[in-house]
Amino acid sequence: MKPAGAPSGPVARGGCVCGAVRFEIDVPAVWAWHDHGLASRRAQGCAYATYVGTWKRRFRWLEGEAALTRYEDAEAGTTRSFCRRCGTPVTYEKARSPRFINIPRALFETRTGREPRYHMNLTERADWTYWGEPLGPLKGYPGVMRERPRKKRLDPVDGE
Ligand SMILES: [Zn+2]
Repeated sequence: MKPAGAPSGPVARGGCVCGAVRFEIDVPAVWAWHDHGLASRRAQGCAYATYVGTWKRRFRWLEGEAALTRYEDAEAGTTRSFCRRCGTPVTYEKARSPRFINIPRALFETRTGREPRYHMNLTERADWTYWGEPLGPLKGYPGVMRERPRKKRLDPVDGE
């Protein structure tokens, strides 16, 4: 008989930068998406946040739950947790979806069974986000690529 809470099928594991926090989800995750919203960009310090979402009953802490610190934004109805030692954002929960948990895609070591093919909050997208523009090598700096100068921004969306 398997122990309570043990996975019954394939899992995807992940953790924070310092290794104090470890978790796993049952594969496949429910869905995955890119969030261009200002709050998620700031919470993760990135151009856009890529999340994997799943049911809480398909998520398990393996190590370090006690190493987490939480930030609750009561107005937005969101709670974000991060490792108090290394600062890695670990979970993102919404009060209106209490049985669901979201985890940054970058924390997983393997595929999660869902590709991030959805984009949310595009109207909040940062105008400095790299969007697949053509790149050319930067002369004198091997390995560094640069975007070609643009005469005018084609997309006027301003994320500031
Ligand atoms: Zn950590």
